[in-house]
Amino acid sequence: MSTRRGLSLDDPVRFVKGVGPQKALLLSGLGIKTVRDLLDHFPFRIDDFSSVTAMENIHPGDEVTVQGLVTSTRFVGSRRGRALLVDLSDGTGQVHLVWYNMPYMYQHFHSGRMIVASGRAEWRRGGLEMAHPLWFASSEPVESGPVVPIYHASASFTSQAIHKIVGQALSQCFDEIRGDIPPEILEQYGYMEEREAYRVIHLPTSAASWQRARRTLAFREILYLQLGLMSMRQEAKRVNGPKAFSDFGPADGFLRDLPFNLTGAQERAIADIRSDVAGESVMNRLLQGDVGSGKTVVAIYALLAAVANGYQGALLAPTEVLARQHKRTVEVLCKDRFVFGFLSGGVGTKEKAETLARLRAGNIQVLIGTHAMLEPGVSWANLGLVVTDEQHRFGVRQRLSLPETNAAFSPHLLVMSATPIPRSLALTLFGDLDITVIDALPPGRRPVRTQVLHDRQRSIAYGKVMDEVRKGHQAYIVCPVISEGKTDRKAVLDVFEELSRGFLKGVRLGLAHGSMSKAEVDQAMGKFVDGKIDVLVSTTVIEVGIDVPNATCMVVEDAESFGLASLHQLRGRVGRSASESHCFLVSKAGGDARLRLKLLEKHHDGFQVAEMDLRNRGPGQFFGLRQHGMGETRLSDLSLSFDEIQRARDEARRIVDCPADSEERALVAKVKKRFGNLAAAGMSR
Ligand code: ADP
Ligand code: MG
Repeated sequence: MSTRRGLSLDDPVRFVKGVGPQKALLLSGLGIKTVRDLLDHFPFRIDDFSSVTAMENIHPGDEVTVQGLVTSTRFVGSRRGRALLVDLSDGTGQVHLVWYNMPYMYQHFHSGRMIVASGRAEWRRGGLEMAHPLWFASSEPVESGPVVPIYHASASFTSQAIHKIVGQALSQCFDEIRGDIPPEILEQYGYMEEREAYRVIHLPTSAASWQRARRTLAFREILYLQLGLMSMRQEAKRVNGPKAFSDFGPADGFLRDLPFNLTGAQERAIADIRSDVAGESVMNRLLQGDVGSGKTVVAIYALLAAVANGYQGALLAPTEVLARQHKRTVEVLCKDRFVFGFLSGGVGTKEKAETLARLRAGNIQVLIGTHAMLEPGVSWANLGLVVTDEQHRFGVRQRLSLPETNAAFSPHLLVMSATPIPRSLALTLFGDLDITVIDALPPGRRPVRTQVLHDRQRSIAYGKVMDEVRKGHQAYIVCPVISEGKTDRKAVLDVFEELSRGFLKGVRLGLAHGSMSKAEVDQAMGKFVDGKIDVLVSTTVIEVGIDVPNATCMVVEDAESFGLASLHQLRGRVGRSASESHCFLVSKAGGDARLRLKLLEKHHDGFQVAEMDLRNRGPGQFFGLRQHGMGETRLSDLSLSFDEIQRARDEARRIVDCPADSEERALVAKVKKRFGNLAAAGMSR
């Protein structure tokens, strides 16, 4: 070991001391492949034992850490079951720690033991109580306890285990971490040096410095995002685009022949695109629309326009399954309107060579496929339009990683995203970009009937699943892949086991989760699409864009682990046919978390839901650049204010306007490289 060179950030994570092939595999299930991925796996919260409050100063409702001696313990009967009461005293007052139905906790609290406990103090039974607090025993008085970072973990990998590995990685390669942002900028706003921020976010010593580290890293993320977008936009202005499109006959004909009328929102989107491509400059448009809002038709319109004007078009999907789905849609809707080809990693060598030759010769007018079409060696006769369908993604990565046909020419670009970004946030973030929003669903869609169920009522959900399966329909069961350290979030494997022996015995079950290879996930998905599986049990690895109209029921386990916007997107996978569809949100949570879930029973508009989520959790969660699962973004839950976003934006604008040879502009190049890498990594998940 000692003869090895130092650890670099791009090394595979298995080179971190204490991480062998086995652990590396488990980490890859969390999307962690390199040392950099590991360091970028930020804790999403901390358990803060660091500042102890004197008991006499506690107000009911306060979240506090107390320290005191156990004076007595007893059991009392209560509505919630048998309660263990531990009386804690610090000389200024008393607090009762309470555990319900956990009699074995008794053994930890003999009289005279010093305990540090953290939680919310409430006035109950005539005194201050803390129910199920976080706690540890401390043999001597401490003025400040540890600040423990809590990571998104998996069933097989606890937060603690991750913390240990991250700590090890930091000690092995701290010097490798380099800050890219000019220090003046960081200083000006009171942010930390980047390397320091990495250390503090993983090894915090106080809640305040941890928050500062997070805000620093969040600021960096948004600054990078803005720099990427702005520099791209700047470049787009310099390059030449295709000659102005003038023939829209075939595209209009396609619309006329559709078996349905376009919605007003679709018409507006088409008008926007038409005016873009009829002009001289290059289209660079983000098309946002809720799941099921009919973006595909809009995309086909644009592709037909490109073909009619003598250009080739590309329709790029993030996964094999989605690409094949687009191929089928095109076959059904516009079979003879253009000549199309298909290219993905799954296409055989011979067929691929043939497709590439026809593409080069211009005999293929539209190429549908995956990132395989971005690989070197794919050359086009005259590519004029790229449509990328990212579903829940932001459209940032692909924008930055598109093939450069040649330096001075750039095809039109239409990026479709099903992430409803609240208007307020979109304006702040994407104010410089062209955005079209499809804000209405086709008529006659029935909203997915949504019901929040307590864990005890799960049989209602699974009874419905059985009903639907008997009718020949299909269902999804979704479990959170993440777990908050020690709590008992349902791991997908447990649920699968349990269901196959219990509620769903005899049903054809499929399984898909993040520790399976992409090919295995695709295979499971494919079986579901083909109706060979009745119920698919999965994490969020399966794609939001997947269109299986026969699926009419969804159960989300531990629903409180997901953001509202994510849940809304999840349920968009059902409700795709004339049959009534159901979504059950199963959760043990009470209080605010439950009320939050209940909002989805009433609200069915993705933008409204996103706006509520934004109010609830702050803008941070919308900056997902991470590919695994929706909502669980690296910056998820970062409580960034709009002011901070604005700040990052202003700085980015200043930097892209700096002279080309300035030091600041060097940052732009770095960002591009970074996004480029991310894109490559993300697309080949
Ligand atoms: P998404 O925006 O999620 O990609 P799709 O393009 O897959 O949505 O459309 C969902 C379904 O709605 C498809 O089956 C499509 O044919 C259908 N559809 C699209 N537009 C309309 C419309 N205006 N009226 C009725 N059905 C429509
Ligand atoms: Mg779609």
